[in-house]
Amino acid sequence: VTTFAGKTVALFGLGGSGLATALALKAGGAHVVACDDNPAKMAETAAKGIETADLRHADWSRFASFILSPGVPLTHPEPHWSAKLAKGAGVEIIGDIELFCRERAKIAPNAPFVAITGTNGKSTTTALIAHILREAGRDVQMGGNIGTAILSLEPPSDDRIHVIECSSFQIDLTPSLAPTIGVHLNLSPDHIDRHGTMELYAAIKERLVAKAGLAVIGVDDPMSRAIAEACEARGVNVARVSVEPLGTKGVFADGETLVGVTDTDAAPMAGLSGIGSLRGAHNAQNAAAAVAVALALNVSPETIRSGLSTFPGLPHRMEEVGRIRDALFINDSKATNADSTEKALKSFDSIFWILGGKAKEGGIEPLRSYFPKIRKAYLIGAASDEFAKTLGADVPHVLCGTLDRAVAQSASDARALGAPAVVLLSPACASYDQFPNYEVRGNHFRDLVRALPGIEAKGA
Ligand code: ADP
Repeated sequence: VTTFAGKTVALFGLGGSGLATALALKAGGAHVVACDDNPAKMAETAAKGIETADLRHADWSRFASFILSPGVPLTHPEPHWSAKLAKGAGVEIIGDIELFCRERAKIAPNAPFVAITGTNGKSTTTALIAHILREAGRDVQMGGNIGTAILSLEPPSDDRIHVIECSSFQIDLTPSLAPTIGVHLNLSPDHIDRHGTMELYAAIKERLVAKAGLAVIGVDDPMSRAIAEACEARGVNVARVSVEPLGTKGVFADGETLVGVTDTDAAPMAGLSGIGSLRGAHNAQNAAAAVAVALALNVSPETIRSGLSTFPGLPHRMEEVGRIRDALFINDSKATNADSTEKALKSFDSIFWILGGKAKEGGIEPLRSYFPKIRKAYLIGAASDEFAKTLGADVPHVLCGTLDRAVAQSASDARALGAPAVVLLSPACASYDQFPNYEVRGNHFRDLVRALPGIEAKGA
């Protein structure tokens, strides 16, 4: 990126995207002074020919800009020291997506740019949009908060579509965000602790759609509906997305049928029935949003239909791992709280449920209404005793300790049932007591399932 050619900029946070940003700025002729709390990252960066320094003692008047990695918390309650210093020196604080936006404005202002946010479903929707557009033969660059850092992607051009997932932190650091299409899916209180108040959190999300050429907005929660109304009142071009019938322009899910609504008519666009990677009402919202984007980018309904049906889904989110006759094995390791697990329990009927790990506040109490669907629960990790108490006499359960034992026992019970059922890993817990992260937990589950006798594995 050439935005800062000949200028000196400070950069904090040298994780994957931070380092990519530093290298992109350097390649564009900027002088970068980089910093991180982790000395190993500093050394790695210095080895790539980038100046590193402790920014606490730097002369901030030298810097044209301060680039902050999105992983570094700077909002509530205590701003990061580096952000304080930047503010004190009157230096703007921006992120890598802002650098992309400025570069795009300079070299290809009409390059199609789709930005996606929301509390939940960002990655799924981003991946689905990219998948449908690729199916349509478009040149797609996907990244941001998912996968590749934005500045490691190919640069913007008129015949290339950037599909970028944005967290609230990234939006906060992108003052000139004005995508061709902005997608806001939903808002729930998840991240309030880090953004101060719900109002502030909503205001940040609203910024992604406020200046979009087309704002695709999920209207199924009250705060997101308010965002749609505010945008409409200001004359923004809005396509609404819902799992309830819509009277205005947009796409809604009528059960498993997606219906496109224009100013003049409403017509069924595509069906979700039988698409394993898009099970559940939450995925209907994601799919409806993706369809609204694809329609706006002139993808034909036939291509949209085939794109939906060939979407492989993302790993660890209600991922089909395989089946043994009537027993389907689902990896939902990404479900680290009751809210996410609820989506999975809602989506299936006869469930052998593997759960546990490091419990979140409230545990599985909010899931009580789904207990009648649970044939048996297999408890693992630190939360086992607490969860056993909540399940009580209502749900048969066993303390398995490890995921290995839970898979072995649940698989044998599901096979013995001889009727359609699901073995579901949806832990409603963080993984840290037994695994480094949810990905390792999900991968281990997948490996265990694929080693079961008689398994028909799904996917690679
Ligand atoms: P994100 O990238 O926003 O974290 P993902 O697409 O990775 O979202 O999905 C993570 C989890 O969030 C899923 O496993 C599911 O439990 C839940 N989820 C996905 N889409 C939605 C949605 N539209 N509304 C509510 N919850 C959702």
